[in-house]
Amino acid sequence: MTTENKFVRKLRCRECGYEYPIEPLHFCEYCFGPLEVDYDYDAISGVLSRETIARRPKSMWRYRELLPIDREPTVGLSVGFTPLVRANRLAEVLGVRELYLKNDSVNFPTLSFKDRVVAVALTKAKEFGFEVVACASTGNLGNSVAANAAAAGLTSYIFIPSDLEQGKVLGTLIYATNLVGIHGNYDQVNRLCSEIANKFGWAFANINIRPFYSEGSKTFGYEILEQLGWKVPQHIVVPMAGGSLITKIAKAIKEFHRLGLTDHTDCRIYGAQALGCNPIAQAVKADTDLLKPVRPNTIAKSLAIGNPADGFYAVKTIRESGGYAEDVTDEEIVAAMKLLASTEGIFTETAGGVTLGVTQKLIEQGRIPRDETIVVSITGNGLKTQEAVIDHVGKPMLIKPKLEEFEALLDKHAPGVRARG
Ligand SMILES: *Cc1c(COP(=O)(O)O)cnc(C)c1O
Ligand SMILES: [Zn+2]
Repeated sequence: MTTENKFVRKLRCRECGYEYPIEPLHFCEYCFGPLEVDYDYDAISGVLSRETIARRPKSMWRYRELLPIDREPTVGLSVGFTPLVRANRLAEVLGVRELYLKNDSVNFPTLSFKDRVVAVALTKAKEFGFEVVACASTGNLGNSVAANAAAAGLTSYIFIPSDLEQGKVLGTLIYATNLVGIHGNYDQVNRLCSEIANKFGWAFANINIRPFYSEGSKTFGYEILEQLGWKVPQHIVVPMAGGSLITKIAKAIKEFHRLGLTDHTDCRIYGAQALGCNPIAQAVKADTDLLKPVRPNTIAKSLAIGNPADGFYAVKTIRESGGYAEDVTDEEIVAAMKLLASTEGIFTETAGGVTLGVTQKLIEQGRIPRDETIVVSITGNGLKTQEAVIDHVGKPMLIKPKLEEFEALLDKHAPGVRARG
């Protein structure tokens, strides 16, 4: 793949099927439907086998024929191939047999799954010749665009709602980007950014080059299948903001099967949202295609998109897979974050609390059977949303630097431990 990527065919309208050349376009001129990258799967199946993939370096680029770039990747070369952890202690608490955590809270370089989409978006932006990259963000995307743009020597502008967590703000500013806080919610930020994209001709990762950006999410799905030994799990639970990741996991499952890398596509896909911002979950539960925009009010700020761009397709994906969607309260989010940390040693952000909380709920409802394979998508890192849990984890036990003080403390708090020593 030194010059043109012969595996990428066209951009294709998801609604009317009209085809467009590979250009920075994102909606159909005829019906305003979203555009999707289309590949020549016959050509890809000729070169991409399990063995070929397995021999390649452990990053998201081991699936590069299935990503919409023309030349070698130039941004985010080490992104991806995060751990898939068998979670036996958590499984015991949930009362299930086979549970896995796909852990993008340790994705490189900015500790969320957004590094996957940004690696593709910025590589593509460079191919298109953009010099300024930008995004409308609920936090993690801003972190990732800023970091990857810095490493690529690109100028970046990041637009966020002004009330994001400190960790998300600092995790953007540190990269010496241009961070603009908007007095408003994400949906207002996004609307403003669409206008800026039109007027300034910048590459907004999740707006005018969205069809390329969103393809990066497929690698989260590919990795799950490969790490399960080229097997499709029976259930995957996925957090939803704009609703893109969940649709791309479904696309990944279909593509691997189309290429003969896995032997079926049966997987029930479940969407997770916070009760304080649940437009997609609401539509699934009401069994309707009509999404009612909401005004977000939740500690899960990374998922706080009241009018999700891919909401309609997320509902469709969930329904076609035989899955479901649920939502959880802020208290349930915090409880799930603590449960994950105390059973598996993984500190996830609020979005991970949403996903695990919803998983618990679906198991209790009997929608996810206890004896089947379940994968929970952990997409972000808890150090970025400290405000959510700081008042719910207790305080350090304070003593003077004296052995007697420690012995007294131990006798009081854990007399049994001493005997074990
Ligand atoms: C952005 C984000 C999501 C959801 O992504 P969408 O593709 O917009 O649905 C999930 N988890 C985290 C941590 C995120 O930052
Ligand atoms: Zn169209």
